[in-house]
Amino acid sequence: MKLFALERATDRAAAIAAGAASTTAQQGASVRFLAGGTTLVDLMKLGVEQPERVIDINRLGLDGIEEEADGGLLVGAAVTNSDLAHHPLVQRSYAALSQAILAGASTQLRNAATTAGNLLQRTRCVYFRNTATPCNKREPGSGCPAITGANRMMAILGTSDACIASNPSDMAVAMLAYDATVHVQGVSGVRNIALRDFFLLPQDRPDRENVLEPGDLITHVTMPPRPAGERSVYLKLRDRVSYEFALVSAAVAAVVSNGKVTEVRFALGGVGTRPWRVPGAEQVLIGEAPTEQNFRRAADLALAGAKPQSQNGFKVELAKRCVVETLKRATR
Ligand SMILES: Cc1cc2nc3c(=O)[nH]c(=O)nc-3n(C[C@H](O)[C@H](O)[C@H](O)COP(=O)(O)OP(=O)(O)OC[C@H]3O[C@@H](n4cnc5c(N)ncnc54)[C@H](O)[C@@H]3O)c2cc1C
Ligand code: SF4
Repeated sequence: MKLFALERATDRAAAIAAGAASTTAQQGASVRFLAGGTTLVDLMKLGVEQPERVIDINRLGLDGIEEEADGGLLVGAAVTNSDLAHHPLVQRSYAALSQAILAGASTQLRNAATTAGNLLQRTRCVYFRNTATPCNKREPGSGCPAITGANRMMAILGTSDACIASNPSDMAVAMLAYDATVHVQGVSGVRNIALRDFFLLPQDRPDRENVLEPGDLITHVTMPPRPAGERSVYLKLRDRVSYEFALVSAAVAAVVSNGKVTEVRFALGGVGTRPWRVPGAEQVLIGEAPTEQNFRRAADLALAGAKPQSQNGFKVELAKRCVVETLKRATR
C-alpha cells in the first residue's frame, strides 16, 4: 500500500476544504473521506485507490436517523448499515430498505459500513480490482477485458463499449424505489440530488461514476413518507444464500386498493451499471389488477433494453422472474 496521511476531521467545513484539494472525486482521487473503510481500505490494499490524504469523517455528527416533520426518513451519511436496517421506523415503513441491507455483506461488515459509503462502493468486476489487468474504469483508455472475458456477474443494462460493470449495492436499489434524495455539502454550498440522477452511466468515461465533485461530502439521505397501505419487499437472487453479491435483485413498493394497483415503484439490482428503474414499466401496472400476467408485462418492459454479454444472458429471464415474484410478494 502506498504511504498516505490519515487525518481525523472534527470540523465539517475543514473536511470539505481538504477534500476539495483533490483534482477529482472519482477514480484517481488524491484525497478520500474514510467512513467504515470496508470499500476504501480494501481498494487501497489492492492499489486500485491510492489517495495521498485520507480524512476520517466519523466525528462529524452525521450519524442520526430521524423521522422528518412530513413523516419522511432522514438518514445520516455515517449511520451504519446495521443501525439503519434495525431501526424501528425503517422496519415499519421502509421494509425493503431493511431487507436489502440485511441481504448484503455480513454482520461484521454491516456494523462498520455506512450509508454514504454503501452508495459509493465500487464495482466487484475482477479486472477493476486487479491492477495487473487493463480496465477503463481504473485506467481510462486501457481497455475492458470483461467484454471478452469473465462477464457472468456484469451488467446487461446501461452498458457501453467502454465498461459493462454492474453496480453492486443492494441498499441503493431499495433507496431508488423509495425515491431517495442524496444531500451533499461542498465548497460551493449544499445540493440535493435525486438518487436517480446521482449515478452516471459509463458511456466513454466509466471512471466517472457519480456527480460528486472534489470536496463534496454526503451529509444525509432522505426518503419521502410512504403512502397509506404500501407494502415493500426486496428480493435478492445470488449464487449462495449469504455473503454474496446479487446476480439480480428487485425492490418493490406498492399499494393495492379495491383489487387494483394504485401506486407502484420498483428498481432492479445486479443488472444495471447503476441501480436501475424504468418508470414506464411501473406505469403499465397502475389501475390494473395485481396479476402475474400484468407483472410479466411490466418486467418485459423493464428489461426491454437488455444487452447481455457472452456469459450473462441468463440474467435477462432471471431478472424478469425476480421482478414478477417481488411484485407478487408486495401485492399479496
Ligand atoms: C466481503 C464484502 C462483501 C460485501 N457484500 C455486499 C453485498 O452483498 N451487498 C452490498 O450492497 N454491499 C456489499 N459489500 C459492500 C459494503 O456494503 C461496502 O463496502 C460498504 O457499504 C461501504 O461503506 P463504508 O462506510 O465502509 O465505506 P468506505 O470504504 O469508508 O468509503 C467508500 C467510499 O465512499 C466515500 N465516502 C464515504 N463516506 C462519504 C461521505 N459522507 N461523503 C463523501 N464520500 C464518502 C469514501 O471516500 C470512499 O471513496 C461488501 C463488502 C465486502 C468487503
Ligand atoms: S467492465 Fe468496467 S470495471 Fe470491468 S474491466 Fe471493463 S472497464 Fe473495467
